[in-house]
Amino acid sequence: MPRKKLIAANWKMYKTPQQTAAFFEEFLPLVVDHSRDEIVVCTPYIDLHTAVAAAKGSNVAVGAQNLHWEKEGAFTGEVSAPMLLAIGVTHVLIGHSERRQYFNETDDTVNRKLEYALECGLTPIVCVGEVLEEREAGLTEDVLRRQCMRAFNGISARKAAKLVIAYEPVWAIGTGKTATPDMAAAAHADIRHEAAKAFGDDFAAQLRILYGGSVKPDNCPSLMCEEDIDGALVGGASLDPQNFAKLVKY
Ligand code: PEP
Repeated sequence: MPRKKLIAANWKMYKTPQQTAAFFEEFLPLVVDHSRDEIVVCTPYIDLHTAVAAAKGSNVAVGAQNLHWEKEGAFTGEVSAPMLLAIGVTHVLIGHSERRQYFNETDDTVNRKLEYALECGLTPIVCVGEVLEEREAGLTEDVLRRQCMRAFNGISARKAAKLVIAYEPVWAIGTGKTATPDMAAAAHADIRHEAAKAFGDDFAAQLRILYGGSVKPDNCPSLMCEEDIDGALVGGASLDPQNFAKLVKY
């Protein structure tokens, strides 16, 4: 079965609820007939409610950018999977490099979050990728292998059915530098290989692996025509509705 591409927006820490409502008002009509790809918009927590209400009945799903691995408890400032599901959120980013870099996200916390998100029925988008020094030292494959192996630890193929991976070379995020389609395709093949080891060949053949890192409307087509690239995770270029619609319809 061919893998349906997924184009996901990561708004990072941008937009108020009012700006969120305005985005959806302009964006939804631009993609109303678009069925080739799945579309997801991952907003800050404060905007999720507005986004879910605005996207209701449309072809656009709403995702969060993080979650906690427990159902509830004394975890000030955190939000759980059941809370996200209760307001209609269906997707969640896990282990984005900005969370690994600035908020102590580790391979272990990624694993715990992934396990609980899957158990609760969310679609997790797990982010992996190397920093520039690792790429320059020839360590990209090792880094991807380690991040995937630890993220998948203890999770069965049956449980992991909804898993999506985003390969995001850290040096390409928000920098205007993009991995070449060949570089991205090689990294995606490494990730798929790791998924096959953890979950089996059939699972790996169906796993969607997105590319993220300075994806823009002009470089999107050449990345998306790579056979092993199953969509995009888009930061900066997803904030403007016209720009993001153009990118979705590459
Ligand atoms: C991201 O935030 O995941 C991302 C890829 O950002 P940008 O597209 O701005 O590089």
